[in-house]
Amino acid sequence: MKTKKEKNPNILSLKESRAILRSNLAEMKKFEKAKRKKVTPDYFTTELKDENNVLEVENLHTYFYTDSGVSKAVNGINFSVPKDSIVGLVGESGCGKSVTSLSIMQLVQAPQGQVTEGSIRFATRDFVLDDKGKRIPIYVTDEDGNVVYTDKLNKKGEIVKDKNGNAIKVPLQARSEDGIPLYEMKDVTYDIAKMPTDDMYRIRGKDISMIFQEPMTSLNPVFTVGYQIEEAVYLINPLATKKEAHDKAVEMLSRVGIPMPETIVNYYPHQLSGGMRQRVMIAIALVGNPKLIIADEPTTALDVTIQSQILHLIKEVQQQCHASVMLITHDLGVVAETCDYVVVMYAGKIVEQGTVYEIFDNPLHPYTKGIQKAKPTFDTGMDAELYSIPGVVPNPINIPNECLFKDRCGERCSCCEGEYPQEIKVSATHSVFCHKYKK
Ligand code: SF4
Repeated sequence: MKTKKEKNPNILSLKESRAILRSNLAEMKKFEKAKRKKVTPDYFTTELKDENNVLEVENLHTYFYTDSGVSKAVNGINFSVPKDSIVGLVGESGCGKSVTSLSIMQLVQAPQGQVTEGSIRFATRDFVLDDKGKRIPIYVTDEDGNVVYTDKLNKKGEIVKDKNGNAIKVPLQARSEDGIPLYEMKDVTYDIAKMPTDDMYRIRGKDISMIFQEPMTSLNPVFTVGYQIEEAVYLINPLATKKEAHDKAVEMLSRVGIPMPETIVNYYPHQLSGGMRQRVMIAIALVGNPKLIIADEPTTALDVTIQSQILHLIKEVQQQCHASVMLITHDLGVVAETCDYVVVMYAGKIVEQGTVYEIFDNPLHPYTKGIQKAKPTFDTGMDAELYSIPGVVPNPINIPNECLFKDRCGERCSCCEGEYPQEIKVSATHSVFCHKYKK
């Protein structure tokens, strides 16, 4: 007698595929429509919970609407980046580190990728706008406080005259040491998760910048490195002259330790080594004196000797610019050498966070212990088999509400059943998500 064939849970029927497609389209439309809605700055202006932070991420969810279902790449994470510090985001590939950084930069690939919930509070300085939404210039004044006037120049630098042949006078706008025209500014905190893309352009690349992991694919091979740094200069100062932009490019190359910057500025990326290309990427990220630098595995594509130079450089520029750095890596050696705080991610969630000493001296979560054990040390014997955590990261589609590490965990016990573990605070800075530490 014929028995009915059992359904493979990993294969979707046509009916199920259509249902997923319909639901995805409806969700994506909803988010894209919300992005097009005209909003006032009040809508995305907020307050930091702690004045000592530059970035606060709260309950962040970033989902991808795929043909197989909703992939919950980042699923409700909370962490903050204090001022003047380096925070390391660690975890295996696919645990949501890069998607977190792309969410902060508003670079998640839409419409499939969407920040569906949560807030990303970022403290910055922004322009004060007048009633018509225009920036308010700061003018040079004389000793008596009167505004100084100067000749109006056209784009070619020639004096503009009225119909009687007299030079037209305009108020003289103040400029910074770098020659950037000055406008009235204010301290403000924005919720990037709610911020319209047009407003995000004002802070992306200037106040938050990113160093990508593969400098060869991140730099454009058909333009010189100087041209690519100049592009960043024009983003910060659209009125910069060609010479000012070129001089700034040379200065930035010299600042990141590139020898003969006047010559190298005219080189194409393929003429430089991997380490030099990464230095160029760092130079581009530093042009606007950012408050937050996101470095996404900046040393992965480099050989070991260059890795240490680049890490040293990142630490040096962080101290010089008083910027904060969010360092994304899966290399615990990099974290130990560079970071002040560590956030450990697994399957789109944070499993443990604390200061670098707390995480290295007293790791609590079995996953944190596992990734530390997987790193060979001087004591590892020549013939010893290297440790690796058994199993793989679970599929982020249809993720259950339970400990996501339990199938790989060597410390699993009867207390591990039930819902996803709550956060357990071990100290003011150290917390862990594991049932084992429940009181
Ligand atoms: S909750 Fe249990 S299974 Fe999950 S990580 Fe902790 S000890 Fe392991």
